[in-house]
Amino acid sequence: MSSSTAEKSTHQRPLLSIIIPAYNEASNLPQLIKELNEVLVSLDVAPEILFADDGSTDSTWEMIEALHREHDFVRGVRLSRNFGHQYALLAGLANAKGDAVITMDGDLQHPVTMLPELFNEWRRGNMIVHTRRIDPPTLSFFKKITSKLYYKIFSYLSGVKIQSGMADFRLLDRRVVEDILQFNEEGLFFRGIVQWVGYRTTTLPYTCRERFSGTSKYSLQKMFKLAWNGITSFSIVPLRLTIFIGVITSCIAFAEILYAIGVKLFSDSAVPGWASAISVLSFLFGVLFIFLGIVGEYLGRILVEVRQRPRYLVSDTVGIRNICRDKQNDTTP
Ligand code: UDP
Ligand code: MG
Repeated sequence: MSSSTAEKSTHQRPLLSIIIPAYNEASNLPQLIKELNEVLVSLDVAPEILFADDGSTDSTWEMIEALHREHDFVRGVRLSRNFGHQYALLAGLANAKGDAVITMDGDLQHPVTMLPELFNEWRRGNMIVHTRRIDPPTLSFFKKITSKLYYKIFSYLSGVKIQSGMADFRLLDRRVVEDILQFNEEGLFFRGIVQWVGYRTTTLPYTCRERFSGTSKYSLQKMFKLAWNGITSFSIVPLRLTIFIGVITSCIAFAEILYAIGVKLFSDSAVPGWASAISVLSFLFGVLFIFLGIVGEYLGRILVEVRQRPRYLVSDTVGIRNICRDKQNDTTP
């Protein structure tokens, strides 16, 4: 489909934005645009495809520029460095104009054939349409188990229900996007925030496809950071847990002291066990330092929040006239 067919915009047709964060995805983008075009033509919408290039070091940005020259509904913001998937999503949301906004990955794992279903659910009045991955048989056991476990722990700690397999593939109504843009916090965790905001929502299952080209851009370190940000931005239960464990260990220690005094007073001997005393002591010191670390993590979060730095910087744009930067409503003509 040519750009003119896709962007035959009338006032009646809703504007649908598709936000795609991309980090070194140059080899995936042409195929993605091809498949998106085929699907979008069947929808009665004025489309906008907005790439958020998260500081790619390959030719992703040049590819976005080329795709924009070919189809003027392809637009792009380029972050000044790799800020991470969640901030790339945020930069996309801040600059999307759609009445409905869909976020999806740039590696074709999120099937574009789901878009009509997402859109229809929005048409039926749902403000948020989540998707839930049905684990393909090829998904590694490690990813399956860690994802299930993490979402169980997250939901328990935060009181915000997330099911395993819910990734950043969803549709948001304009109103929800505006609400989310009010969240000024660091360490964004969209999966939690979109559950937290409420509204009428529904969830659609989908079968995840194989990555079209390249390898995962989520290193173990990035995954861990996202998971930890998710928990610490939604819950202070880890801090409370330290008090709880502190009280229990103090009670045990107190009972030990009473026992030692009792043995000394009422028998001829003293409680033996230098080695056990030292091992208990080292264990408790270990626990203490872990707790100090947890307190430090939360303290660090406060420091980062207090600084109020922008969460991402934009170095280039294509097809966007009034660029929205982070933490300022600066509109450069
Ligand atoms: N991504 C990003 N910044 C990053 C890492 C990933 O914008 O620092 C993008 C990536 O290009 C992709 C999406 O986030 O469009 C999901 O990443 P990926 O497919 O590598 O994750 P996986 O599917 O392996 O969990
Ligand atoms: Mg992927």
